[in-house]
Amino acid sequence: MVLAAGGFIYNRTMVKEIAPKYGTGMPLGTASDNGSGILLGQSVGGKTDLMDRISAWRFINPPEAFARGMIINQNGERYINEFKYGAAVGEAMVEENDGVAILVFNGELKKLAREQCKPGKAQWFQRAPALLNLWFNSKEAKSIEELAAAAKVPVEALRKTLEEYNDAADGKTTDRFDKDADKMHAMRSGPYFAINAGIKSKRFPLPTLTLGGLVVDERTGQVKGEDGVIPGLYAAGRNAVGVCSRSYVSGLSIADCVYSGRRAGRAAARGEVYATKDAPAPAQSPPIEAKGVEGLPVSSQAQVADPSPEAHQRPSRRAHNEAPYPRQSLNRSIRRPGGTTRVSSSTRGRLPKRAP
Ligand SMILES: Cc1cc2nc3c(=O)[nH]c(=O)nc-3n(C[C@H](O)[C@H](O)[C@H](O)COP(=O)(O)OP(=O)(O)OC[C@H]3O[C@@H](n4cnc5c(N)ncnc54)[C@H](O)[C@@H]3O)c2cc1C
Repeated sequence: MVLAAGGFIYNRTMVKEIAPKYGTGMPLGTASDNGSGILLGQSVGGKTDLMDRISAWRFINPPEAFARGMIINQNGERYINEFKYGAAVGEAMVEENDGVAILVFNGELKKLAREQCKPGKAQWFQRAPALLNLWFNSKEAKSIEELAAAAKVPVEALRKTLEEYNDAADGKTTDRFDKDADKMHAMRSGPYFAINAGIKSKRFPLPTLTLGGLVVDERTGQVKGEDGVIPGLYAAGRNAVGVCSRSYVSGLSIADCVYSGRRAGRAAARGEVYATKDAPAPAQSPPIEAKGVEGLPVSSQAQVADPSPEAHQRPSRRAHNEAPYPRQSLNRSIRRPGGTTRVSSSTRGRLPKRAP
């Protein structure tokens, strides 16, 4: 059985218990991302890890003008280069700054932002939230004192942050978050604007998705329990700890879902069991051995039994399509006299020559 029922971001009770900092974030996924797969695995002894790792996406760019402004916390201090990737901004906000992010810019940047939100300048899903924030989620202030009051931060701290920012923007100093001067904009005059971009902002929701899950054997995707793997149980995608579980960047979750799904499906179809309690570490483990699988086209079964090049001709398209799982990139090992030869999709049909 392969568990592939998604993460648990829609199980708000689980989120609040396991990762309470993210409890007010906006769940990103489908309603069935309710943790059912993870809970099913746990119910038979599966271990979990990195369950409190949640990716929070605070993308403020486009419009680029927003990123030329600054993000401050409840103390009126900056904490990140505003041009950083949205998941990095979200993580710094939630993990280190109590979920607070106030985006500050001035009238010149607002004008630029509106220009950059015109049709054709950005995608609709980028323009729409930016414009909604400009219209309905920004507070205007004529002075730094008014800005501090609007953002609910200490005025002296804000003044200092702004001065430091302006000096770096003018090239007088180096920005302590390594933001290039040409990506900054000195804000020496008002009006100023503050947008609540924090996790509690009702007008600027913070999308969140879970990254942790069941602990699996890295070679097979088999679910691990306290005493080794659970026979016959595999997990993939956000049901499992995967490549993206510690740190997410765009594409890493989907890529991991594809990879881990193929890994689990392949291993399950072959009935592989590797990570018992006493199994050797992955580096020393033996290569995966091909086994005959019921239902495979004869050509593939012949490959297992017969290592001759003729047996490794690519199967016909029809035979390929009828196979129970895609074998295009199946890596397999063929036992032959004198050792084991690893055969990959790129070498299939052209068995590598053995060293004399
Ligand atoms: C708007 C959006 C944008 C995203 N952008 C990116 C991106 O750019 N890059 C990236 O890497 N990731 C992105 N993600 C995240 C990524 O899509 C998910 O991490 C990924 O789809 C998780 O795949 P999964 O197969 O584990 O779960 P899912 O895709 O959630 O699939 C789980 C499936 O299991 C079904 N299911 C659930 N419970 C049960 C049950 N009990 N019984 C039977 N079936 C069940 C569900 O209906 C669903 O079909 C995005 C997500 C969203 C919502």
